[in-house]
Amino acid sequence: MADTLERIKCLIIGSGPAGYTAAIYAARADMHPVLYTGMEPGGQLTTTTEVDNFPGYPDGIDGPQMMVDLQKQAERFGTQVRIGMVTSVDLSKEIGGIHKATIDNATEVEAETVIISTGATAKYLGLPSEQKLRGGGVSACAVCDGFFYRGQEVAIVGGGDTAAEEATYLANICSKVTMLVRGDEMRASKAMQHRVTNCENIELRYNSEVDEVLGEQVVEGLRIKNNKTGESDEIAITGLFIAIGHKPNTEIFKDQLEMDSTGYLITEGKSTKTNLPGVFACGDVQDKEYRQAVTAAGTGCMAALDAERYLATIEKEVTA
Ligand SMILES: Cc1cc2nc3c(=O)[nH]c(=O)nc-3n(C[C@H](O)[C@H](O)[C@H](O)COP(=O)(O)OP(=O)(O)OC[C@H]3O[C@@H](n4cnc5c(N)ncnc54)[C@H](O)[C@@H]3O)c2cc1C
Repeated sequence: MADTLERIKCLIIGSGPAGYTAAIYAARADMHPVLYTGMEPGGQLTTTTEVDNFPGYPDGIDGPQMMVDLQKQAERFGTQVRIGMVTSVDLSKEIGGIHKATIDNATEVEAETVIISTGATAKYLGLPSEQKLRGGGVSACAVCDGFFYRGQEVAIVGGGDTAAEEATYLANICSKVTMLVRGDEMRASKAMQHRVTNCENIELRYNSEVDEVLGEQVVEGLRIKNNKTGESDEIAITGLFIAIGHKPNTEIFKDQLEMDSTGYLITEGKSTKTNLPGVFACGDVQDKEYRQAVTAAGTGCMAALDAERYLATIEKEVTA
């Protein structure tokens, strides 16, 4: 059985840009937030070397350094940042109810509000050569990293709407984009398919899978296998973009919070409110559209403001 440690005003789950921004706002609003980092302290940006598009860093910033800065800023106003994983939750359905979270299967925390910022994990192919070259030319985010391959030849893996959109994005920056689709047609909408086929510098290859990413320190090429004929060939590229989907980190909220068919948390209108009172969601865990650090941070701010307003409403009801 878990030990009950304490009751807090605001529990923040996740230490990416959304969680730390929520923490900055919640701490400044005297909500004394406690933030659990999860398995990836600092979140997805700790897996990239250069962030060039976050406002306020004119020369760009190293991803892990940016997250250290955000943590320091959250701590400056009193956020307690704790290493730990929320392993289960028992969320109240009542307005003003107390939510429970278990940390590392051991300690229980009770919270008046919960801000969920557990992010989403990009899916990779799982090839050893791909894993070796992550950060050395293999990326799961074309919008984030495409700029570094300006005028160069790249490849993208995937056949859905996101892959199609990212391929056309890359086609505007890179000299050539080879798009590898595993099946004999794309899953993307017809409109997106037209956008891809209308780009002169996108070469579409169906029934094609990455056999190996070539290069020692950086990507130099790809060996591609045709899964129908079994034949392989090699192409020279400097960047490989994986666009085969993301998995939102929402397992622990199943059967308690409303999610879409792919597991993303659903929030109400323009707010960060979930279907349960006092529980808010921000960042990539509720956003499969934009998935950027700055949008995650923006919704982190919104979640803290929503939580603060929720607490104020309850306190007003209690004193009325
Ligand atoms: C390789 C790469 C490069 C990128 N480059 C850029 C870029 O240049 N610019 C840009 O704007 N965006 C970039 N992005 C996208 C950006 O990283 C994300 O949009 C952003 O990090 C989302 O922030 P988040 O706070 O929602 O979640 P995340 O950063 O995904 O953080 C989620 C956090 O939740 C924690 N967590 C998960 N489950 C639990 C749990 N059960 N208990 C406790 N904690 C938990 C994790 O440990 C992690 O700390 C990049 C993404 C990748 C993968």
